[in-house]
Amino acid sequence: MRKIVTVVGARPQFIKAATLSRQFPTVGVEEIIIHTGQHFDNNMSDVFFEEMEIPRPAYHLDIHNLTHGAMTGRMLEGIEKILLKEKPDGMLVYGDTNSTLAGALAAVKLNIPVIHVEAGLRSFNMEMPEEINRTLTDRISSLLFCPTDVAVQNLKREGFEHFPARIIKNGDVMQDAALYYASKAEEKSDILQKIGGEKFVLATIHRQENTDHPEKLRNIVEGLNQIHRQVRVIVPLHPRTRKILQQLSIIPNFTIIEPVGYFDMIVLEKSCELIITDSGGVQKEAFFFGKHCITLREQTEWIELVENGFNILVGSDVEKLLQAFATFQNKKSDFSIDLYGNGHAAEKAAKDIAAF
Ligand code: UDP
Repeated sequence: MRKIVTVVGARPQFIKAATLSRQFPTVGVEEIIIHTGQHFDNNMSDVFFEEMEIPRPAYHLDIHNLTHGAMTGRMLEGIEKILLKEKPDGMLVYGDTNSTLAGALAAVKLNIPVIHVEAGLRSFNMEMPEEINRTLTDRISSLLFCPTDVAVQNLKREGFEHFPARIIKNGDVMQDAALYYASKAEEKSDILQKIGGEKFVLATIHRQENTDHPEKLRNIVEGLNQIHRQVRVIVPLHPRTRKILQQLSIIPNFTIIEPVGYFDMIVLEKSCELIITDSGGVQKEAFFFGKHCITLREQTEWIELVENGFNILVGSDVEKLLQAFATFQNKKSDFSIDLYGNGHAAEKAAKDIAAF
């Protein structure tokens, strides 16, 4: 494979793409990046390109703030036009957003092989937009890079061994990013000076399964308010969540800050007491930086974190959240187990992509 087109659009994809983009010149792959525009604010997009030195996208589709169908449809149309012009040998997509599905679908319809990084993950909850996107993307991919054994097993259970697709367990590229950027982050970030020296719990909330259910969102805010009375809770708040809290007139007591760049986020994760989140990526980063995590969801795709006692799933139940918080306050864990490949996932994937 010589020339690939990569589609990114949302914050976690910039972080994942940074790891592979850095590898491609070393294996002789030319990469052309399309940014769909799904995330567009400076602090949700540009900051990641700058800090992580991701090559500038050759194309920017500027598609955002639309319903799922309209957004995916317009992306599909925009990406197809670019593919017809660029004629790449492969399409690289990451994770589980509308941009992932649109990129994969546009390519496969033109018989361009699709490469999916973060394949095989399942929450088994088809009400989640992410589950729909990742399941469909996997099915139309030719090269499936799985971060974990569980992801490989999921694909096998769904019959993927009988499809014309290659399954490769390469590890988790987000661990590559966390390890590579950790010391740079320490050097560059001044977030701890900005927030002050107190002990704190770090929390994030943005998943539609929470933000689009007022009752769940109220419960989560109530739980975080209660924890905040014991230890300061800091939430870099996703713009969608901020908007919905305003619409519902929910006024949290905990400390809200603007979404932060990756370097600040790493430093917050390394310095906090504990992490509470509904994010997929942040659950793993908690583990990478040796922190326990309480997950504000009923399921997780990163089940090995729960099985090894690093993560507790509480959904939006206030009592369970407080119980998990109490459990982790007295718990010490050894985080040295290798669950995600210890930082070599992108290197391996880039070599396999070059040879494909
Ligand atoms: N992140 C960040 N700044 C923030 C919140 C999150 O840089 O204010 C990073 C976080 O460190 C992780 C990624 O964004 O690498 C996770 O993305 P997000 O939670 O948006 O999506 P998910 O992982 O749930 O798909």
